Amino acid sequence: MSSPTYAKTAASRSSDDAQTPVLLTPGPLTTSARVKEAMLRDWGSRDPAFVDLSHTVFERIRALAGGTEAAHVCVPLQGSGTFAVEAMLTTFVGAGERVLLLVNGAYGHRMADICRKSGRAVEIYEVAETDVHDAAEITRRLRADPKIGFVAMVHCETTSGLLNPLEEIASCVRAEGRWLLVDSMSGFGALPVDMSGLELAAMAASSNKCLQGVPGLGFVVCRKDLLEAARGRSPSVVLDLQAQAEALANGGQWRFTPPTHVIAALDAALAELEAEGGPPARLARYSRNLDTLLSGMADLGFYPALDPARQAPVIASFVEPHERWFAFPAFYEALRARGFAIYAGKMTGRGTFRVGVIGAIDPVTIDAFLLAAGEVVSEMKQKVIS
Ligand SMILES: *Cc1c(COP(=O)(O)O)cnc(C)c1O
Repeated sequence: MSSPTYAKTAASRSSDDAQTPVLLTPGPLTTSARVKEAMLRDWGSRDPAFVDLSHTVFERIRALAGGTEAAHVCVPLQGSGTFAVEAMLTTFVGAGERVLLLVNGAYGHRMADICRKSGRAVEIYEVAETDVHDAAEITRRLRADPKIGFVAMVHCETTSGLLNPLEEIASCVRAEGRWLLVDSMSGFGALPVDMSGLELAAMAASSNKCLQGVPGLGFVVCRKDLLEAARGRSPSVVLDLQAQAEALANGGQWRFTPPTHVIAALDAALAELEAEGGPPARLARYSRNLDTLLSGMADLGFYPALDPARQAPVIASFVEPHERWFAFPAFYEALRARGFAIYAGKMTGRGTFRVGVIGAIDPVTIDAFLLAAGEVVSEMKQKVIS
């Protein structure tokens, strides 16, 4: 198999995709030509060829998450990643049960909204967006409240780009005999997730982040025993993971129209992940992207909002310069005109913007971005002087 070609510079691409910027965002992100080409054929959703394709895609994802065939299943779900998070929380956490939510950013708050709206009682343990949770405090809260059956956390908090310590939290949750639910949306495919080793209850992710597929599909890898125990718990028809898994297990048919092209693209994306050397090789490439980005941005006078030790190689938040020349909309537009789409900030309390390092991009792409960013900075500073 040929190695994938990564997005280089705006100039080196064909006129056809001159309109298509390199997406330095947390997903949807830049995908390879092979992934896009996989969407050029139509599939009948009841056709055995599609049923086979769908089955093998989700078996590979189950294995990537460290799940075993005997104990785990990957349940796919139409929709964006949040659909999978909502399905995970409302399928596993029963009405009247309490879930401890570990919050240090917007995606943690979103889990709280989901629980409240669906009548799941929550206890929130929130720390600053630049901090991680204290294991001793988690243990203390679990001991104080035996009604808490589940703890839920975000792996990489995309709000800031912070990496939460999954292994440490999983071991303290299991030591108290409770179950951990993980939103690993922005990390799965690169950051390691070991369902078996960490004894996780469930992990939610989507097609369009580190797996480098296209958007339209979420999935939850979970324990079969807990899924069976959750039979009838979901208040929703479409978001009921147990019902979805049961239908797929009995004949491989989806209950409702599957996103056929998205699944075909994900099949190609998984083949690329395998050819690259799996999640460790992908993580290494993203880490090289991040290192290139952080050092180049520092040269331009942009500083990261997080302690580098807490930064995941997924997306970096930069503090907006408090100088007259800088305004995010103009910065964005000038970079966009040069073929790069960055991302607005989401941290509370201070102005930040984000630059993603995931997708079919490599350090050459980041160098091209840094060159463009350098030109934009000079131009913007010049405008203030003249
Ligand atoms: C992207 C993301 C989601 C899902 O967002 P959607 O817009 O619904 O795809 C959930 N959690 C985290 C941490 C994310 O980065």
